[in-house]
Amino acid sequence: MHGRTYNPVMRTIVCLLVLALTSVLHAADGTPSAHIVLLHVNDSHGHTQSWLDDGKSVGGYARVKTVVDAIRQQEGVDHVIFLHAGDEISRGDTLTSATLGEGNIAILNLMGIAAWTPGNGEFYPGAANLQKLISEANFPTLTGNIRYRLDGKPFADETTILTVQGVRVGLLGLCFIHEEYPSSWVLKMEPPADAARRLIPQLRKNADLVIALNHIGIDADRKLAASVPGIDLIVGGHSHTVLREGERVTGPAGREVLIVQAGEYLHYIGRVDLELQRKGDAWILQKSAARLIPLDATVPEDPAIKSTIARLWPATQPATAPADDTAAMGTTALPAK
Ligand SMILES: [Zn+2]
Repeated sequence: MHGRTYNPVMRTIVCLLVLALTSVLHAADGTPSAHIVLLHVNDSHGHTQSWLDDGKSVGGYARVKTVVDAIRQQEGVDHVIFLHAGDEISRGDTLTSATLGEGNIAILNLMGIAAWTPGNGEFYPGAANLQKLISEANFPTLTGNIRYRLDGKPFADETTILTVQGVRVGLLGLCFIHEEYPSSWVLKMEPPADAARRLIPQLRKNADLVIALNHIGIDADRKLAASVPGIDLIVGGHSHTVLREGERVTGPAGREVLIVQAGEYLHYIGRVDLELQRKGDAWILQKSAARLIPLDATVPEDPAIKSTIARLWPATQPATAPADDTAAMGTTALPAK
């Protein structure tokens, strides 16, 4: 090990010390405080590999992984939540279209994603295909406003709660589907604001912080933030909007709601730093700062993700057209691992 002997006992002590120092921070006045870093991407549209934008290499999950790992290392892995706000598998590369998203889920499974909300594009190859992807994902899928038309059963989880630094982070997912497309005939979409009004009171009872992980577009996000009480933060997608520092909307009762979105095609990964303070039994959001981190040529590509994508890449272009904005398409099996 680089010519140094490692003492496991010493190593354990150091680890415990680091844990003790980082797990409970205190503000200057002695109030316990917590720092959470939220990372987010949206509308990647099957750009699994880096690609050329005006002759310059950008994006790709190998770059995403490098940035996410670096932030996890800097901030402590248990301070970081990584979210995907949908539209991963429509209009995608050969890997995406040939596997109808199965290859994408295999890649996302290596990213340490905390939750995702499917985009309309995830529904184009059909509800059954998306259920298969959900069963293969190692992270929860949130579709708070999507139900089966026939029996009214929720399509997937509506909400989830993660505990980060002792803070209970409640997430709800709000989607957009084209009910008129054959691929979505079996489903029904509840208006996002109605679903939010239905889900948030219960979520708020069990969470300190409420995040809407949405794939409904910036205009719908703004309306939601302004009209539905109880939302702290909206992580959005669908409109491919580049919000360099997020956007702040005044919610009902004057509560400020931060909306973030990271453009498209993995040009960027978004980062939100959240500072919370303990007040009695609850954690109160004190401060938030949002920015976009460019996934440009200065970011090295993670070799393990690069080689995984190469291994999953189909030998031939699929005969069928890629999943697009109309209906379900044919399938090709994912190559053997
Ligand atoms: Zn979309």
